[in-house]
Formats: sequence, C-alpha cells, structure tokens
Amino acid sequence: STPVVIFCALSKAATTGLLVKGGNYLETLAKVKMVAFDKTGTVTRGEFTVTDFQSICDDVSLGTLLYWVSSIESKSSHPMAAALVDYARSLAIEPVPENVEDFQNFPGEGIFGKIHGNEIYIGNTRIGPRTGCSKDSIVEAKCTGGKTRGYVYLGATPVGTFSLSDSCRSGALEAIKDLKSLGIKSFILTGDSHAAALYAQDQLDHAFDMVYAELLPQHKAELVELLKKDGTTAMVGDGINDAPALAAADIGISMGISGSALAVETGHVILMSNDIRKIPKAIKLARKASTKLI
Ligand code: ADP
Ligand code: MG
Repeated sequence: STPVVIFCALSKAATTGLLVKGGNYLETLAKVKMVAFDKTGTVTRGEFTVTDFQSICDDVSLGTLLYWVSSIESKSSHPMAAALVDYARSLAIEPVPENVEDFQNFPGEGIFGKIHGNEIYIGNTRIGPRTGCSKDSIVEAKCTGGKTRGYVYLGATPVGTFSLSDSCRSGALEAIKDLKSLGIKSFILTGDSHAAALYAQDQLDHAFDMVYAELLPQHKAELVELLKKDGTTAMVGDGINDAPALAAADIGISMGISGSALAVETGHVILMSNDIRKIPKAIKLARKASTKLI
C-alpha cells in the first residue's frame, strides 16, 4: 500500500501540473543529481520560423522546391515540419501530402519522400550519405544566430537550403538556476547542430554545465547511461527521438502538451504544462516527502 505521505505528495504534484506515475518515481526524484534536457521543444519552444529558403539548382524552381518540401514535411511531426509547411503556404504554395510515396523518417537526420517519381531527402548534413551524395559536394553554410540549417536533395544532388530559428522558453533560465540551487547539474542533449545548441546556451547565460549536440537518439541514451554512473539522472524530452533516453534515465520526464505520444508513454513523470520550472519544484516536493518518511 502507498504510504499516506507519498499519496499526498503525488496528489499535490498533480495539482501543480505534474503527473507522477508512481510513488517509487517520487523517491527517485528526491535523489536526482543531474538533469539532461533535450533542446528542441524542451528548452526551446519548438516553434520554428523559416528565415531563409533557397534553390541552389538552376533546374529546380523555388516554387517546385517548396511544393516538394512542404508536401513531404506534412507527413512529419517534427516541430520544424510545421514551420516549413506554413512558410510554403505563406507564399501561396499548397502542400499535397497525398502525392507523397514511401515516406520515411530518419530520427536525428531528417526525412525522405518520393513525389512524382522524384526522390527527395530533407534534413541536416547527416542525411547526405543516405542520398549517395559525396560528402564534400555540399558546402556547410555558416549560420548566424544559432539557426538550424536544412538541406534538400533530389536523389544525390543538393538542390536547396533553408534556415529556421527557434527561441528559448521563458522559464528555462529560472529552471536551470533553481536546479543549481538544489545542487543539481543540468545538461543539454540535442540532435541539433553545435551552433544551435551553443546559441541556446548563450541565451541562457551559460547556465548549463555541459552541452552535447549532433546526437542520434541512441547517442542520447548512451550519454544518459554514462551520466547515471555519477548519480541519479533525470532526462527531460518531448520527441519520438527522446524515447530511448527517457527510458534509459533513472527518471524520464516528458513534456505533456507538446510531447509526442511515445515520449508521454515512456516518461515516468509527465509535465502537464510546458513549464520546465515545475521540475525543480517537483524535486523539492519529492525531497520533502522523502524526509517525512524517515
Ligand atoms: P532535438 O534533439 O533537438 O529535439 P531532433 O533529434 O528532433 O532534435 O532533430 C535533430 C535534427 O534532425 C534537426 O535539427 C534537423 O536537422 C533534423 N531533422 C529531424 N526531423 C526533420 C524533418 N522533419 N525535416 C528536416 N530536418 C529534420
Ligand atoms: Mg525535442
């Protein structure tokens, strides 16, 4: 049976918007020494704006490129996808997802789809090798302001580039500072570029103890396993790509509103709002509940 103090703490947590899936997770929360955060959609809003979109191939018009990209991105649930679809629509180009065949998602890299016989890859530089494109045939563009850079390939030929910007959640800095005051270290674990990850770190006064970027989903899980050797580790994330790391952590915390169904299912604690300041609050509550048990 659940001790009364645990039961009270669980229901108190629930009223503050935190769903803890069992008393044992409350005990683990009380012991947390490190919190690893996914970046996109967790530390940042995950609400991207397209700041630049170009055709880099004379044979492919910007209109065709936008039609391909928006149609294929319509099938993706990544936060970047919605921004690219909105951008095409703002230029009066309507995506036609029904025309997309063989859609594939490559977590941490990008997506693939066939449209009118054209094989299109959209993603970061890591998707290049899948297309058969030789590594140096695309010049990695220098990006300012921590933007996320995207590339479009027609078969093995690079045909387009784009940039997207996102911004940090308003409560992010406070959350990391509160964790620090509880003696807890914070990390960023992201699939996004080093530039985008370091930009978020800059925006947050270098509050994170360490930033790890360009990670594939299994790399996030491996890093969590490494952190666990130094103490109880929580992982906070929202994406399908975060599920392995959420499962690997001593305690997985998922974003309830923006989170993917898989992340919400995998997490042991669900943040019912997107307010990550609730995490240090939950740890304080869990510590109180555990001391009352002794
Ligand atoms: P994070 O760990 O920050 O949440 P993800 O693992 O979701 O990042 O994504 C990593 C990278 O993979 C993105 O920054 C992007 O470059 C690429 N990517 C993922 N999905 C898509 C998509 N639908 N369209 C284009 N690029 C994508
Ligand atoms: Mg994410």
